[in-house]
Amino acid sequence: MADKIQMKTPLVEMDGDEMTRIIWQWIKDILILPYVDLKTEYYDLGLIHRNETDDKVTFDSAEATKKYGVAVKCATITPNAARMPEYNLKEMWKSPNGTIRAILDGTVFRAPILVKGIVPYIPTWTSPITIARHAYGDVYKNSEIQVSDGTKCELVCTDKNGNETRQLIHEFNGSDGIIQGLHNIDKSISSFARCCFNYALDTKQDLWFATKDTISKKYDHRFKDIFNEIFEAEYKERFDAANIEYFYTLIDDAVARVIRSNGGYIWACKNYDGDVMSDMVATAYGSLAMMTSVLVSPDGVYEYEAAHGTVQRHYYKHLKGEETSTNSVATIFAWTGALRKRGELDNTPELSHFADMLEKATIDTIESGVMTGDLYSMSTLEDKKKVNTKEFLIEINETLKKLV
Ligand code: NAP
Ligand code: MG
Repeated sequence: MADKIQMKTPLVEMDGDEMTRIIWQWIKDILILPYVDLKTEYYDLGLIHRNETDDKVTFDSAEATKKYGVAVKCATITPNAARMPEYNLKEMWKSPNGTIRAILDGTVFRAPILVKGIVPYIPTWTSPITIARHAYGDVYKNSEIQVSDGTKCELVCTDKNGNETRQLIHEFNGSDGIIQGLHNIDKSISSFARCCFNYALDTKQDLWFATKDTISKKYDHRFKDIFNEIFEAEYKERFDAANIEYFYTLIDDAVARVIRSNGGYIWACKNYDGDVMSDMVATAYGSLAMMTSVLVSPDGVYEYEAAHGTVQRHYYKHLKGEETSTNSVATIFAWTGALRKRGELDNTPELSHFADMLEKATIDTIESGVMTGDLYSMSTLEDKKKVNTKEFLIEINETLKKLV
């Protein structure tokens, strides 16, 4: 075999848990190491090691990502009560994704991988729709009170000089009720806007954004204004040059247009809209196992991963020695996303080309009829074969050998 592809700068590698940890090693051994002289700075985010380091490893991996600019992450367990005895945990450690996102101040972009034979529930969605969710504030950091009949509720704001502004919310007259206080901050909305504009330029796709500014004339309108100001001041010329568009509309109009569209754009969503719409879009495209995810910071740091979790149920089967047929596509695409970006930043086009070929080999393998059980049950291909977790990777490598 010819010389392996060289890397100038290491990737930050964040290992993880359960079935995805098994797949992680196999992807490296079968699909990457034979071709690439892989350089990584390795952080073990598996729950055992997070617990041993009091979760310091998670913080260190995020700092390393800031330093090197590109990371690839395996799915990790977010501990709940059941995990405390299972892993003998000192604490119920926080979600690593939450910790890393907070340190990088990033936005998550999720996009489906489309293959022939897996038909979206909306058959006109022939290109991927990428969803970006603002992950700060609104109803997720709310303050709410249940109130009784006869209560008068006001918004009270006290500024730093002690001046009060009061505004009536509602006088409850004839019924008990509920109230809710929400907030957001310009700084977070601005970061979100810049992440979205940068990612649109990076992937050469139009950017859509929508709120309910006609009804929420201050709150939602602020989102619209911040996006618009940043676009006009910092991005308009680059969008024109790249021949892409920034498109703002009302959220209900956006939903109608999304359904009628063919995909192929980024849809930036406020926090709640993104929560709901990302589940809808993921389901409509067919499989969580085919959904990629990338965290992008406003200053252009990238962390790639699969959108799904650690596939616990399959892992327990694997531990019992039973055969599994776990889909590794989204995890492979996390690696290819990171390798391609590293190649772009380091000006090593052979590395980016390898990433392209590995993606092509993966898609070609599925389209030739070889797939894992989750896709097998959905695929409309006539000639199809279900393979186990490892066989799938070996089959992809057979296709890859012919491409490189
Ligand atoms: P999950 O790992 O996403 O799996 C849920 C189910 O979806 C699986 O049981 C499987 O269905 C199917 N599935 C998901 N990915 C698949 C794949 N690659 N191939 C085939 N089938 C796949 O979610 P979970 O079981 O609810 O969560 C397990 C752990 O993952 C939890 O500890 C959670 O904290 C963690 N998690 C981590 C991340 C992350 O790190 N980004 C995200 C979400 C969850 P069948 O069982 O029907 O085959
Ligand atoms: Mg949701």
